[in-house]
Amino acid sequence: MTRVGVNGYGTIGKRVADAVAAQPDMELVGVTKTSPDYGAEAAIRRGYDLYAAIDDRVDEFEAAGLTVSGTLANLLDAVDVIVDCAPSGIGERNQPVYEAHDTPAVYQGGEDADIADASFNARASGDEVVGADSLRVVSCNSTGLSRILAPLDEEFGVEKSRVTLVRRGGDPSETDRGPINDVIPDPTTIPSHHGPDVNEILPDIDIDTAALKAPMTAMHTHSVNVTLDTETSAEAVRDLLSEQSRVFQIPEQAGIDGAGTLKDYASDLGRPRGDIWENCVWEKSVSVEGRDLYLFQNVHQEADVVPENVDAIRTIATDVSRSESVARTNEVLGVGF
Ligand code: NAD
Repeated sequence: MTRVGVNGYGTIGKRVADAVAAQPDMELVGVTKTSPDYGAEAAIRRGYDLYAAIDDRVDEFEAAGLTVSGTLANLLDAVDVIVDCAPSGIGERNQPVYEAHDTPAVYQGGEDADIADASFNARASGDEVVGADSLRVVSCNSTGLSRILAPLDEEFGVEKSRVTLVRRGGDPSETDRGPINDVIPDPTTIPSHHGPDVNEILPDIDIDTAALKAPMTAMHTHSVNVTLDTETSAEAVRDLLSEQSRVFQIPEQAGIDGAGTLKDYASDLGRPRGDIWENCVWEKSVSVEGRDLYLFQNVHQEADVVPENVDAIRTIATDVSRSESVARTNEVLGVGF
């Protein structure tokens, strides 16, 4: 049984906590919050032990009527792996604390790649992640791109990939985010950081990325163009994608025409929080002309990294093979529509 803590119970942390708690081979020891807000109350109501992320805030929780089981230091001493889900850049500040407690850590994509022994994606990472004491699960966009570029490279060879990312302006809970009336190149420089981030997982893939930010919260959209080494057909690419356990091809007849209907579908199926852990590729968009492949895919930014975190924990703490871990995670969470 791998004992796991989650430091930072926000958008990603609360989902990782639920996913860990559901694994029969893992125990969620507890989660941290910095303040006694609705998230802290919800964690307790879900039955999770709550720890104060900042030592001198224990009294604040007690004053709000929320019982804490200790501080981050106590949590670190009680776990085999800590999953850092603090905001971008805070993981770097937490790193010396984890190291002082000799606690292996999983970090998120908002941290620089050099924070961990290796960056991680369950489908695309190589053997460099085996034996790592710390891993960084790449961002939602890099996860989504790695999941399709790895099989495309294995099957057809990737000569060059060009991706335009239309990014959601903020998560639904980020009330202070924008834009509200524009589409903004973000960053205005090309390539965006996403291509180099994919190269942390797939160093040999030639990839250029450009990103824009749009006034929506549901999902990111990727317009993908890959020049393959060999000529193929749209059917062969669809067949390849259908073999990928974390890629969902949206059937033409489903009447799903955007992120809104995708999320509606996930909610209708009873997915927790309407989460979509899979890449969503529009089957009809998969087009091949000679060696040029085009497709559209959406990724649910709050969810696609969640199964990857579970597999990163097993990679650090156990000798369960990657394929076995992915199979277990998929089965327990219900990944695959
Ligand atoms: P978030 O702001 O929703 O949640 C972060 C949580 O950490 C909050 O509860 C916050 O109170 C808490 N926190 C703040 N300071 C802390 C500290 N010092 N110690 C512990 N906890 C602290 O952020 P998020 O969106 O969940 O992002 C977390 C990480 O995941 C970032 O690296 C981000 O880049 C990455 N990520 C986010 C998304 C996304 O779309 N939200 C997708 C993929 C990866």
